[in-house]
Amino acid sequence: MANSPATESVTPGSSSLGAKSLDSLPAGGEESRWQAIASRALAGESLPREVALDILAAPEEELLDLLHAAYRVRQRYFGKTVQLYFLMNAKSGLCPEDCTYCSQSKTSQSEIPRYNLLRRDELLAGARAAAQRQAKTYCIVISARGPTDREIAAVEKIVPEIKEQFDLDVCACLGLLTTDQARRLKACGVDRVNHNLNTGGEFYSQICSTHTYQDRVATLRAVRGAGMELCSGGIVGMGERPEDVVDMAFELRQLKVESIPVNFLNPIEGTPLAGQNELTPSYCLKVLAMFRLVNPQSEVRIAGGRELHLRSMQALGLYAANSIFVGDYLTTKGQVPEADYAMIRDLGFEVTIAQSA
Ligand code: SF4
Repeated sequence: MANSPATESVTPGSSSLGAKSLDSLPAGGEESRWQAIASRALAGESLPREVALDILAAPEEELLDLLHAAYRVRQRYFGKTVQLYFLMNAKSGLCPEDCTYCSQSKTSQSEIPRYNLLRRDELLAGARAAAQRQAKTYCIVISARGPTDREIAAVEKIVPEIKEQFDLDVCACLGLLTTDQARRLKACGVDRVNHNLNTGGEFYSQICSTHTYQDRVATLRAVRGAGMELCSGGIVGMGERPEDVVDMAFELRQLKVESIPVNFLNPIEGTPLAGQNELTPSYCLKVLAMFRLVNPQSEVRIAGGRELHLRSMQALGLYAANSIFVGDYLTTKGQVPEADYAMIRDLGFEVTIAQSA
């Protein structure tokens, strides 16, 4: 398909800026060029692809102005709220796919825990931890090309129990799904499915050979067809071009995903991408600003690699993004929850909804 980025696709009711480059937008005067872009995004216009690329190449001295522009859009749709998500790695390792970034692939030599689907009490304990940490959403993730019937049945059993006991949304990340599997997930109470595009369509074959980008898009369409929300994002820093990151952002806009997790590659030892380290904190911030301005109304989540790549600039990321994971990632450590709460408090922001355990 490869990738056919929806460069001019627009949200219904909105208009397009057309093929204007940043140079054709106002510079200086009452509004800087970044503020002009924010104003247009707030007016419902869709940024052209050229502008998204310009954001990723923004001069360092304009970074704060760019973040302010992204913040104006974030503020309109999410105020000062930060939504917390909690990840449960419900089945680890043993995956037959060959995604080069992933420590759970059969091709990975990484030293990670490997286990089959967790028991009911372990999944419930995870939900309890999610609620205690003020997460809005409990993310149940398995390593797999797609779920077996037994795994779908286990999800069908546990999700109603979680919903009965805790005030949590449930997001399932189970790999590729058929339309029937998606319908079953919807029927048992799953609110949202995560299935990342991971990168742009043209670059996808560089990071995986066992399934295609189009397979992933088809799963997202099946999830939407079943009536669930979409969580889909990707990983930046795998050797892709800025154009590939922009392709992904525009595809996500076309798919109207509700939630976009933006991961920054943690090059885990034992994976083919170990040693790949090309990211700077400021580039990561530009990526977050680009996702916000291209997808104004979607949740943008700073996901894996937040601590590693943003480092002391993590807080600035929340001027563009409105969501983070609290706790650990699938096979890597996150910072302690107290550090996240302190960061949110110091920003003058607040966690979306206080959950009760
Ligand atoms: S399908 Fe998922 S779990 Fe399997 S190798 Fe790819 S990213 Fe890892």
